[in-house]
Amino acid sequence: MKIICIGRNYADHIRELNNSTPASPVFFLKPDTALLIRNRPFYYPPFSANIHYEAELVLKICKTGKNIQERFAHTYYDEIGIGLDMTARDLQDDAKTKGLPWAVAKGFDQSAPIGRFLPKPQLPDVKNITFHLCLNGITVQQGNSGMMIQGFDDIIASISTFMTIRTGDLIFTGTPAGVGPVKVGDKLEAWIEGEKLLSCLIK
Ligand code: MG
Repeated sequence: MKIICIGRNYADHIRELNNSTPASPVFFLKPDTALLIRNRPFYYPPFSANIHYEAELVLKICKTGKNIQERFAHTYYDEIGIGLDMTARDLQDDAKTKGLPWAVAKGFDQSAPIGRFLPKPQLPDVKNITFHLCLNGITVQQGNSGMMIQGFDDIIASISTFMTIRTGDLIFTGTPAGVGPVKVGDKLEAWIEGEKLLSCLIK
């Protein structure tokens, strides 16, 4: 399986990092070894001094497709969850400055904690899903799928023109404003609507 991530998909987050709004979606990948499941702890890696959390809605792909039309895209995912696009911001800033890929800044081991997924029927209006992230009990990020520049169907249609998506693939759909650093001892908890789906201790 692969993890496809979209960057710069919420206007308020683009502003906070002083990025420009892309004309077409920014995609990047994480390897399957990035996954961190079952609320296991995240171990602060020694190669970075500035690890950031980014809470994102995550789509679970349920069938194989290529060149998917936007109007059929909704049939290609059947569960929605919440995940953390853990980012070595120092390595990413260095890569951006040099025009180099983000592979290690975004794809290191444990850089993709994911929580429990909800079946789509439980979230009938996919254009109005609220989610939030707490750091040590304080809300630091709040988002709604209606705030995304590229919606779920648009993302699936766009990415599938370049690469086949397959059952089990995950799509991280971008983060709203409020990203920030973590330190050892922090606890991250994430909700979709009123349901807590993810908990992650930084060790
Ligand atoms: Mg992200």
